[in-house]
Amino acid sequence: MLGTKQVTRVQLSTGTDCPKIEKNGTGKHSPRGAVEKRPGMTTYAAALKLSTTTAPEFIDITEDIRHVTVESQIQNGFVVVFSRHTTAAVIVNENEPLLLEDIKKRLEEFAPRHDYYRHNDFTIRTVNMEENESPNGHAHCQHLLLGSSQTIPLIEGKLYLGRWQRIFFLELDSPRAREVVVQVVGE
Ligand code: ZN
Repeated sequence: MLGTKQVTRVQLSTGTDCPKIEKNGTGKHSPRGAVEKRPGMTTYAAALKLSTTTAPEFIDITEDIRHVTVESQIQNGFVVVFSRHTTAAVIVNENEPLLLEDIKKRLEEFAPRHDYYRHNDFTIRTVNMEENESPNGHAHCQHLLLGSSQTIPLIEGKLYLGRWQRIFFLELDSPRAREVVVQVVGE
């Protein structure tokens, strides 16, 4: 089933430095980015802040991505949609509820949540341990199949998606705050 989503768009700096994203937990800060014109190419970046509510959870972000491409004023180029996480993916597929259930089942078969993962064995693991570490070995393994990003052609101001193609953020781990970076490149 489709989860409820809370999406906040945040403009990112498009200077030569790595974009720095303010993290105040509310998503309510003033836009810092601007359209930057370069000879023959413009780049525009924004962040979508998401609050996931369950896992696995499909969040259809197609309209949010469309909104960013309109803001960018870029007409022709491409859009990169990138998950900044190792246990949440960005995919393109059909938004048909039964299909989404099928995909969840296949992911669970590929890397079942309750299998043994060394990554989850906190009696032996010492690397990258944080307080309240999530036992999320299954989510990392499922993420292998799906990847972190998608690239969508932007043609005459339109996302050039096929009839049934939608862009999803897919939470694989557990409910938490997430961030998707959207970068539009073109002219
Ligand atoms: Zn992990």
